[in-house]
Amino acid sequence: MIQQCPVCNIVAKEYLYVKSRQRHIMKCTNPLCTLQFVSRIPTAAELRELYQKHYYNESERSDYCDTDPVLARQYLSSIKENIGDLAGKSMLDVGCGRGSVLTIAKEFGLSISGVEPYAAVQAHIPQALNGTIYNDLDDVIHANQGYDLITLIEVIEHIVEPWKILRRLCDIMHKNSHMYIQTPNVDSLRCVFQRSDWPNYVNPTHLYFFNEKSLLMVMRKAGINNVTRLHVPVSYPEHNIARRSIQRILQHCNLDGSLKLLGSVT
Ligand SMILES: [Zn+2]
Repeated sequence: MIQQCPVCNIVAKEYLYVKSRQRHIMKCTNPLCTLQFVSRIPTAAELRELYQKHYYNESERSDYCDTDPVLARQYLSSIKENIGDLAGKSMLDVGCGRGSVLTIAKEFGLSISGVEPYAAVQAHIPQALNGTIYNDLDDVIHANQGYDLITLIEVIEHIVEPWKILRRLCDIMHKNSHMYIQTPNVDSLRCVFQRSDWPNYVNPTHLYFFNEKSLLMVMRKAGINNVTRLHVPVSYPEHNIARRSIQRILQHCNLDGSLKLLGSVT
């Protein structure tokens, strides 16, 4: 199977087949890009059904809708280390789920806004958070607020045409602002070993699979520059010392499960 890479327009070939989901994963043959993507993007109606089934079913896996607050604090600390004090700056969290990242962002003194398209999830955002929550990106653009920091945490892999969304987000950012994108890493040791069993390939709502190169390509295409990879010394509270040490080593070798890029919009 041969297709065209939607980012660089070079030929993409079938890379692997996920039997359990009957989906073909394509990989761009351009060595400067190497983007991986599903051969067929589901329709809007199909996606709605998939989200209902896999994410927003109250009885199962609803914890997927949010970032662990301990990790959120570590991500924001790392962003602060790179761009300076966050107090007084404005932030938009795209795909804010139940608002855990925004709750922590408030501790850092940021003025907070979020986008969460699913009403059932939005209903869980604490009232006391007192931030502005939008239903979709069109509402954000219509409100015409500028932002100093936009975050997309485990979101870009779900977006149908991420380069277009990033471009639109750049248009509503202040001069000298920053965008932070975090997504599963196809160059991670886990992905290399698990191949078609990698949970991110199996998750039917994941449409694109990035490594540092391909995410950089998409960010640059959208107009985001000076991109640096953050090595957040993430420490999972439930992990023991051995697992934490392995995590550090993987991060050091760029083989850890999560890719974290911070870029600027000038
Ligand atoms: Zn490509």
